[in-house]
Amino acid sequence: KKANKFYNEPLLDFAVKADREKMHKALADMKASLPVNVPAMINNKEIRSEKIFDRVNPSEASQVVGKISMATVEHAELAMQAAHTAYQTWKNVPAEQRAALVDKLADIMVRDRFKLIATQVLEVGKPWAEADGDVAEAIDFCRYYARNMRELQKPLRVGGLPGEVSHYIYKSRGVTAVIAPWNFPLAILAGMVTAAAVAGNTVVMKPAEQSTVVAWGLMKMIQEAGFPQGVINFLPGFGEEVGEYIVNHKHTTTIAFTGSKAVGLHILNRASQVQPGQTHVKRCIIEMGGKNAVIIDNDADLDEAVDGVLYSAFGYAGQKCSAASRVIVLDEVYERFVERLVEAAKSIEILPAENPKSYMGPVVDKEAYDRILGTIAEGEKNHKLLFKAHVPSTGFFAPPTIFGDVPGDAKLAQQEIFGPVVTVIRAKDLDQALQIANSTEYALTGGIFSRSPANIARVKNELEVGNLYVNRGITGAMVDRHPFGGYKMSGVGSKTGGPDYLKQYMEPIAVTENT
Ligand code: GLU
Repeated sequence: KKANKFYNEPLLDFAVKADREKMHKALADMKASLPVNVPAMINNKEIRSEKIFDRVNPSEASQVVGKISMATVEHAELAMQAAHTAYQTWKNVPAEQRAALVDKLADIMVRDRFKLIATQVLEVGKPWAEADGDVAEAIDFCRYYARNMRELQKPLRVGGLPGEVSHYIYKSRGVTAVIAPWNFPLAILAGMVTAAAVAGNTVVMKPAEQSTVVAWGLMKMIQEAGFPQGVINFLPGFGEEVGEYIVNHKHTTTIAFTGSKAVGLHILNRASQVQPGQTHVKRCIIEMGGKNAVIIDNDADLDEAVDGVLYSAFGYAGQKCSAASRVIVLDEVYERFVERLVEAAKSIEILPAENPKSYMGPVVDKEAYDRILGTIAEGEKNHKLLFKAHVPSTGFFAPPTIFGDVPGDAKLAQQEIFGPVVTVIRAKDLDQALQIANSTEYALTGGIFSRSPANIARVKNELEVGNLYVNRGITGAMVDRHPFGGYKMSGVGSKTGGPDYLKQYMEPIAVTENT
C-alpha cells in the first residue's frame, strides 16, 4: 500500500556546488556531441528520411543542436499500423506490468537528470532551474499516472440490489495520437504519452519541431525501460503533414494535444470527420492558451505581489500557457505597484540559458521572436510603454516589456502573446477588476494578491479560471498538488496531474451479473 504513495520529485538546488558542477559537465558533454541526429522510431526501429530540419540553439543561433529527420506521411502510416498491431497485445498486458514500466521510465529520468536538463537548456533555451522543473514534472507525471492506474484497475462495486452484482471497470480505448508543445518539452510530452500507455493504449507521438531532440531523449528512455515494440512510436515532423495525418487516421481513437488555440480547434474539427473504416468516435483531450490575469488588491503585500507577477510574467520568457499577461491593479495602489514592478524588472538578468545566472533566456525561435517583436512595436504605437529591457544579440532574445494603463478590451489585453510582455490594467474597484479579468475568451490560470478574506472569497467564486492562485505566482503547477488545466476557450479535458486525467484515456464499462 505504502509503496503506491505519490510524492513530488524534489528540485535541484544549483547553489549547491556539486550540482552546479554536474550541470556544467553535462552541458559541456552535450555540446561536444552536437548536433544530435534524430530519426523516427517505429516498432523500436530507427527510420530516416531525406528531409532534414536543422534545429538551432535559441540562445546562440549559429549552433545547430539537432539534425532532425522529418517523417513523411508514409512513415506516419507505418507508425499508425505499428501502434494498431501492438494494441492487440498491449491491451491485455496487466495494468501492474504497464505501471511498472512507467515507474522504470521515471527511474531512468532520475538517473539521467543532468543530461535531460542540459538538452533543454541548449535546445529550447530554458534556464537551468526552469529546465530542472520540467524534468522533475516529467518524473512526477510518470509516477502519478502509474499509481493512479494501480488504483483504477480495481473493479468498483456499484449498486447493491440482492441477486445482482455490478462492477464499474476501466478499459483502454486504442491508438492514441499525442501532439505536444515545445515549452515543457519533456514534461507535457511524457505526461500525455505515459498516461495513454499506462492506461493500456498504444501511442504515436508527434513532438513539436522545436523540441525534437528532447523528445528523442524520451523515446530512447522508453526503449530502455523495455516497452514492447510498437507500443510507443516516435514521429518527428511537421504538424501540417504528419500531425494532420495521425489526427485524421481511421485507427486513431484518442487525440491528446497541448498547444495553440488555432491548432487545438482545428484538431477538434478534423477529429469529428469520420473516416472510412473508422471504428471509434475520436475523443480529444485539448489544452490550449490563456490570457491570465493577476488582480492586485488595495491591501496586497506589494513585495510579494511584485515578485509573484515578475516571475509569472517573465519566467521562461513568458512562454507558458499559465503565464501572467495581464495585471489588473486597483486604482488606490496602481502607481505604487507599477513603480515597484518596473524597478524590479530592471534587475532581471537576461542571459543565454546556459549561464547559471540567467533569470530569463531567449524565446524559442526566429518565428516567435519576430511575432513578439511585432506585438511590442504595435503596442508601443497604441499604448503607454513602461519598460522594455536591453537584451543580448546572439540569439532570439525578446525584451521583457511592460505596458501600463492598457484598456481591458484592447487587443494587447485580449490576445495571447506567448512572450515576455505584460499589460497592466487599471480598475476602480474589485467589481471592475473581476469584470475585466473575466472578459477574455480564456479561462486557464489567474490569481489575486489581497489580505481581505471577503475579497479573496469573491475571487474564488467569480474568477473564471481552471487554476486559481491566492497570494502567490500563477505558474509552476505541481503534479498532485495543483492539477492543471483550463476551460472556456483554454481547452477541453481534465486536469493533468489530477485524479480525473487518466480516465479520459479509458472507457468505463459496467458489468452486471445475475447471481
Ligand atoms: N503547467 C505549467 C504551469 O503551471 C504550464 C503548462 C503550459 O504552459 O502548457 O506553469
